[in-house]
Amino acid sequence: MSKIIVGIDIGNATTETALARIENSQTTFLSSGIVATTGLKGTEDNISGVFESLKKALDKAGLELSQVSEIKINEAAPVIGDVAMETITQTIITESTIIGHNPNTPGGLGIGSGVTISLEDVLSATTSQDYIVIIDKSIDFEEAANIINQATNRGFSVKAAIVQKDDGVLINNRLNTKIPIVDEVTFVEKVPINMQAAVEVAAVGEVISQLSNPYGIASIFNLSPEETKYIVPIARALIGNRSAVVIKTPKGDVTERIIPAGHLQIQGENPLINFNVGIDKGAAEIMKAIEQASPLENVKGEPGTNAGGMLERVRQVMAELTNRVPSEIQIQDILAVDTFNPQKVVGALAGEFSMESAVGIAAMVKSDKLQMESLAKKIQEQLKTNVSVGGVEADMAILGALTTPGVDVPVAIIDMGAGSTDASILTGKEKSVASVHLAGAGNMVTLLIQTELGVSADLAEDIKKFPLAKVESVFHVRHEDGTVQFFEEALPPHVFARTVIVRKDAGELVGFVPIPVNISLEKIKKIRREAKTKVFVVNALRALRAVSPTGNIRDIDYVVLVGGSALDFEIPQLVTDELSRYGVVAGQGNIRATEGPRNAVATGLVLKS
Ligand code: ADP
Ligand code: MG
Repeated sequence: MSKIIVGIDIGNATTETALARIENSQTTFLSSGIVATTGLKGTEDNISGVFESLKKALDKAGLELSQVSEIKINEAAPVIGDVAMETITQTIITESTIIGHNPNTPGGLGIGSGVTISLEDVLSATTSQDYIVIIDKSIDFEEAANIINQATNRGFSVKAAIVQKDDGVLINNRLNTKIPIVDEVTFVEKVPINMQAAVEVAAVGEVISQLSNPYGIASIFNLSPEETKYIVPIARALIGNRSAVVIKTPKGDVTERIIPAGHLQIQGENPLINFNVGIDKGAAEIMKAIEQASPLENVKGEPGTNAGGMLERVRQVMAELTNRVPSEIQIQDILAVDTFNPQKVVGALAGEFSMESAVGIAAMVKSDKLQMESLAKKIQEQLKTNVSVGGVEADMAILGALTTPGVDVPVAIIDMGAGSTDASILTGKEKSVASVHLAGAGNMVTLLIQTELGVSADLAEDIKKFPLAKVESVFHVRHEDGTVQFFEEALPPHVFARTVIVRKDAGELVGFVPIPVNISLEKIKKIRREAKTKVFVVNALRALRAVSPTGNIRDIDYVVLVGGSALDFEIPQLVTDELSRYGVVAGQGNIRATEGPRNAVATGLVLKS
């Protein structure tokens, strides 16, 4: 007797199908299907996606819906992809202090410090000290270079320049003694005169090191430990820049104000374990409380705060979609992540942004088996085929992962999807599995990139998925790893001199997409990798700790990485590197030797039946 069995995994991002023939208890997989999930996972809106995904698999196998004997769907743990950004600091500068400036083509190289002076005045200056000359737009580059050369000849020490126009390179080319030059400073007239200042320019492809380091700034300006504390937000705002100016005003008037951000009430299943953590304590404190209180009964946020509002929104959305009251909706896990939220610096010199500390939170709602069963029933009514809930996602994923060539028990998996990071472990063929579903995955990474760079969600998704390059001429680009690629035909003008996303499809270059913000390639790359680390490395460790029989990650030997985010060009490597420190061997899955890290849950649903 042969029958056709289908496993369908409704994820936050994708609905994946595995279609197989079972004959004399032999399972032969025939095809797969994948489409974007329709609606919020675990709700009736999913049905049209389920149908599409199934149809794709049926078409590929040349089968009709009527030939399907049974459909298994996953027991879903919905994660609301909503993330609250709670900004917890505000940098206030009461006098001009910083230009966190990133022109495309600064001039010169290195660091120079001295007292600010306008270029017209330098030749008549009296004191012999180090100067930083300020060059406004009325002075052309030849004249500017000329005056600096004359000044140097007369024994004035000109250490750096701040230029209004885009003349950095032109001026520098004409100097007898090269100095670092920051240009394109629009509001150059706001730079205060007769103040201690420092200018740093890094080599092409590198980032500044002195002015992005609080102690670097402290040694230039001879700051006390107390004063050094105040310039931390400045140093932080300059990390990843190719050039920068810092100006010390008499009072060093930068303050960082802590904004009250409200509390999270974390309630463990054990009624005696509960925590009330201030969000301004940061992600580490919040996650420590989550770990200590787990398994969780619920998490609540303080009304009137972003995080509180976000958790309430999560409850409301879930309640509406499932016909329940918000107070019944419980939160099973949250992932809090420290992040930065670019904000206009209050009182800044040239409209600079500072990266204010913020906390991002992803929340997961407790899954409800009854609800998935009612969804299964509805799908059954529409498709007129047997539909049932096959099992919990992480448990199904490990069965699917076991079809990866070379994988055997004991093994653990990490399923890195869009909304959640799931893990499970199988210690022996007969041994039961332990599994866990944690909030936070690919969507959270995209959101962190989106806010830290101030770009759209679609662009952030592409920045996440593809490497970067700098278009250095119409015929060549420099990739983020430093390699240079030449083209026989001229590249389109709109990408020239821009940092671009190297869009690929199946490893083939599709095109370059320019990034419309003036942030260096190095900084974008850093933000991208940090976002991935903060979500996936943190969650991989949390997940494995939760499923390890001893609670110790070292007692796990092999881990298979599955899910859409395991397709990422650097996430598997970031996770694998971290796990190797625990003596864990980890690698990307290849489900059924054909699917790569995809389709693990759907495949597992078939194998379980
Ligand atoms: P879910 O099971 O939650 O539906 P998936 O396993 O389908 O999730 O994974 C979706 C996630 O994988 C999304 O966050 C998406 O951005 C990410 N993703 C998909 N393809 C790639 C890729 N090629 N590189 C990096 N991330 C990817
Ligand atoms: Mg999934």
